[in-house]
Amino acid sequence: MTLVFVETDTSGEVTLTSAEAVTFARKNPQLLPDGGATTSREGAAPPSGSTEGVVIGLLSDSAVNELGRLGVSVIHHLEHPDLADYSAAAWAQAIVDITPESGTLMASGTPRGMELMAHAAVRTGQRMAANVIACDDDGLLRQVFGGTAFERLRLDGDLHVITIAGHACTPEETDPTDPEVFDYDLDVAEADLTTRVRRTEAEAADDASGLTSARAVVGAGRGVGSENGFGEVLELVDHLGGALGVSRVVTGLGWRPHAEQVGQTGSRISPDVYIACGISGAIQHMAGIEGAKTLIAINTDEEATMVQRADYAIIGDLHEVIAAVNEEIVRRRG
Ligand code: FAD
Repeated sequence: MTLVFVETDTSGEVTLTSAEAVTFARKNPQLLPDGGATTSREGAAPPSGSTEGVVIGLLSDSAVNELGRLGVSVIHHLEHPDLADYSAAAWAQAIVDITPESGTLMASGTPRGMELMAHAAVRTGQRMAANVIACDDDGLLRQVFGGTAFERLRLDGDLHVITIAGHACTPEETDPTDPEVFDYDLDVAEADLTTRVRRTEAEAADDASGLTSARAVVGAGRGVGSENGFGEVLELVDHLGGALGVSRVVTGLGWRPHAEQVGQTGSRISPDVYIACGISGAIQHMAGIEGAKTLIAINTDEEATMVQRADYAIIGDLHEVIAAVNEEIVRRRG
């Protein structure tokens, strides 16, 4: 059995990256250690399907239905007043308590998924593979160094702990099931609650999730020139009904919030189109846009890596180019 930690948002809905992880689990039965036999831990629900989910906290009816459509047969729902605030150690232990002794435990490679799987691996005494992007009979393929290199590996042991790199696959529904939901009475140890999240900034979370699911993203880098140089870029975002993504220089200079950063230390995105304006194409930035289906660069430097890597490039001043594009969009839309 493959048990997937499913992250839900503030409304209890399944996040996009978790839907990807569930799809990955369902489509890769090779993830299971030899034989795929599964033994439950004492007190945990008996394993009844090949892909199961574990959710901590809010779980909406529509999330249950969505998990069913994604092929999840059992949902382990963990709720406890001490787990209402995120605490890596307490959440990881709760997951470990219901994880089978053999099989695969996995999560999406988000900051939370990474942290929980690392804790779970230590607590179960197993090895962990992070940022897996594919799996076949020869083992796992994972990305390293921010997606600039790949590593093939095999995990030994009865329980494999892995995270799936964001956008390694697209969520796909299958024949819908009606998942069985198990609720648990949990014991949470005081010692596991020493570190916990006390406050979350809803605005930042909303911005970030819009960015990761947008079909069109306009990227803005240092070439924008200043905090006040985003006018044309934001107008283009508006015309496309998309999202703004920025480079680390932009957030580092305080021109835009960190939630909008794309790259190794920001969001990884997979829009239909990414328009990189005044962004040079450093590997840390490219690591976040590998999933973009079409890449357009607007840059004054024809030698810039972004221009070399783009499907289409416009060499010129971004303010002039984007102003002309906006004007044309307005003209065509009447
Ligand atoms: P620059 O590299 O300065 O490029 C500016 C570009 O704008 C140039 O190509 C220039 O030709 C062009 N330009 C200038 N004026 C104009 C104009 N008027 N019109 C059109 N084009 C113009 N970076 C990220 O983005 N995301 C990350 O997650 C990230 N993580 C990092 C993690 C680590 C550990 C480290 C060390 C670095 C990380 N970086 C990250 C930083 C990264 O290495 C680069 O410094 C950064 O991406 C560069 O940002 P930029 O392209 O906006 O700026």
